Amino acid sequence: MNKQKNYGMNIIQITLGIMMAAAFLFFIIAEALLPQENFTDKGTCQILEATWERILPDGTTEPITVPGECEAKRGELVTIATTLPQEQEDIWWCIRSMQQDIKIYVGDELRKEYSTIDTQLFGKTSTMGYVFFPIYSEDAGQVLRIELMSDSSYAGFVSEIYSGEKSDLWRYFFRMYAPAAMIAAFMLLIGVVVVGGSLIIRFFYKRNVEILHLGTVVVIASTWMIAESRIRQFIFPNSTVAVYLGFFMIMLLPYPIFSYINTIQKYRYEKAYMAIGVCSIINCIVSTSLQVLGIKDFFETMGISHGIIIALILALIITVVIDIRKGYVREYRVVAIGFAALIVAGVGEIYMVYVNSSQYNGIPLCMGLVVLLFTAGMKTVRDVMSVEQEKKVAIAASESKARFLANMSHEIRTPINTVIGMNEMILRENKDDTIKEYAINIKSASQMLLGLINDVLDTSKIEAGKLQLVENDYSLASMINDVVLGIKVRAEEKKLKLLLEIDESMPSVLKGDEIRIKQILNNLLSNAVKYTEKGSITFSAKGVRDDNGFALKLSVIDTGIGIRKEDMEKLFDSFLRLELKKNRNIEGTGLGLSITKQLVDQMHGTMDVESEHGKGSCFSVQIPQQIIDDKAMGNLQQRYQSISTKENVAQEVFVAPDAKIMVVDDNKMNLKVMQALLKRTQIQADFATGGNQCLQMTREKKYDLILMDHMMPEPDGVQTLHMLREDAGNVNQNTKVIVLTANAIEGVREEYLKEGFADYLSKPVEVVKLEQTLAKHLFE
Ligand code: ADP
Repeated sequence: MNKQKNYGMNIIQITLGIMMAAAFLFFIIAEALLPQENFTDKGTCQILEATWERILPDGTTEPITVPGECEAKRGELVTIATTLPQEQEDIWWCIRSMQQDIKIYVGDELRKEYSTIDTQLFGKTSTMGYVFFPIYSEDAGQVLRIELMSDSSYAGFVSEIYSGEKSDLWRYFFRMYAPAAMIAAFMLLIGVVVVGGSLIIRFFYKRNVEILHLGTVVVIASTWMIAESRIRQFIFPNSTVAVYLGFFMIMLLPYPIFSYINTIQKYRYEKAYMAIGVCSIINCIVSTSLQVLGIKDFFETMGISHGIIIALILALIITVVIDIRKGYVREYRVVAIGFAALIVAGVGEIYMVYVNSSQYNGIPLCMGLVVLLFTAGMKTVRDVMSVEQEKKVAIAASESKARFLANMSHEIRTPINTVIGMNEMILRENKDDTIKEYAINIKSASQMLLGLINDVLDTSKIEAGKLQLVENDYSLASMINDVVLGIKVRAEEKKLKLLLEIDESMPSVLKGDEIRIKQILNNLLSNAVKYTEKGSITFSAKGVRDDNGFALKLSVIDTGIGIRKEDMEKLFDSFLRLELKKNRNIEGTGLGLSITKQLVDQMHGTMDVESEHGKGSCFSVQIPQQIIDDKAMGNLQQRYQSISTKENVAQEVFVAPDAKIMVVDDNKMNLKVMQALLKRTQIQADFATGGNQCLQMTREKKYDLILMDHMMPEPDGVQTLHMLREDAGNVNQNTKVIVLTANAIEGVREEYLKEGFADYLSKPVEVVKLEQTLAKHLFE
């Protein structure tokens, strides 16, 4: 159905496309072949042919050809005259002026006066423009006198004079010069779009876009063309200012060109381009000063700009040749062709300025720029495509890294499970104090190792975008208590005061990822303890309520070593540790803060750090949370006491000699650990080393609970659970199964519960947690 619709739309679009092409083709052919429909008489515009003479100051005369040149000093008045024919019709004359001051007399009557002297800001620029004046039939036989004055190098220069109907004269100039101006305007538009687009990409995506420089080249070149256009007097109110603009553009042209080449040549020849840049700056300053002071016109110093452009062209040729020899040119081959086109066009343009200055119009330069822009566009497309390709490769590499880390962490967690479990047995059963001390050291080292693996795993998950927040209702007081309990001992060990500023009016139940908030706080608090030698750690927690809802504001303030200003930026980089020498005795991987920051970001929260080197730091996070129960959470101290007594109760050995449980794990060491951990509960435990054995054993003997490892050779824990549930006649078909897993990457509790497990225990198994969970399910 959909396909048919697309097919129909394609036919409509193709048909309309063909019709559009046909319309343009028809227009071009018809305009070229059909007879002209002349609404206006256009035969009257022509360059005037008349006999002119120059009237010298002493009254004598000498012949002069117009257009032409006569000898005159700067600022000297040049007077030329001709006698109008006896038969004269009403007509317009037009003189192309290169002067600052023109007066036209017919007989003694001043017919037209034109002056740029008072309209000019500074300098003595001779602005080119067309001066129109009427000749009437009554003027027949009169002497027409033109007084010209120029204080520039154009002194004594008399340009062509046209005669014809005024509309024909205008049309003539427009026909001759408007196409170049229109092309320039179009180029300007393209340039502005390219520059604008590049700046937007740079601003929003923080990416440097090479083509920005080329866009600037196009803006500069097209502005120059418009400013220099023969018809500029119809565009700009003050043509002299437009002339300044034109010269300025020429002076600035090298800047974006060398910036672009420098980028695509990967800054290999930066020094050469810097030299050209310095010359351009000096040229701009010196030429402008000379113009402003009236010492030399831009026109006279323009040679320097051309010299710099030629130097740039030479630098370009030389560097490209070097790059060809060294093979670097491969990176920008298409653009090199574009530059070759621009160079040819540029040389052609300069040739026209010097050899036939009345004919140059910038069109060749435009063509060159179009070719360059096109080739640069091709390079950009190619670059984007190869970046995409690289991105794909990088994603694949990072995925395989994440997989590797996940597997490794699983592999490492399993033996740590054994170490921690067996060590726990030593702690419980051994009476020798020396051995107990060894075991305590083993316990703290293996817990650190576990923390490290968890951090690496978190980082790889965050990098792979796989870290998912699990939001649940939780008690704020108990979350804070857990964290405080955890850090209290460590602070006391270092003789640091732990100060609590907990706002009791905060809601009692919130919704959010409790585990990750605990992780954030643990990271900040343990850093505070690690990096503080004396003084105190202040943990403050309060609620912030605004239009967006509720947010937890948690701060950790320490009186420790502090962080240098210059190190602040690097604080959140993965694997980066500051002041390595000073902190060499403090354990750490440089992952904690990076994970913390990314967790806070993922929770749409904010993180702030204030620190003074040598005095201490304040890390604070603000995390939006949903309120479930707004009842004030109350006095933490009281709650803390009641919770800790509860914990103590839980830690009291619970015994259940009548309970029968089965533990399934393919790793025999794990089974041994479990056996040891369960010993003091006196629970009767059977052990199976795989799913199949578990199914067999459960058919006959009824168990109260089954603890099942997830990662086992076929069938794995999840499959075994499903098989058990479907095993008709099995006496344990409905027995509760608790999953036991070291697999933390997929190990989110909810997923296991969805599969049908009654609970979740992560390996290495904590004794207290194990006993609490068993008690919960056995006595429920
Ligand atoms: P680490 O595992 O090294 O502690 P983190 O990412 O947690 O890694 O911290 C990165 C670095 O920031 C630390 O190495 C330490 O130099 C600095 N740092 C973190 N917290 C503090 C603090 N409270 N006081 C001083 N420096 C700190």
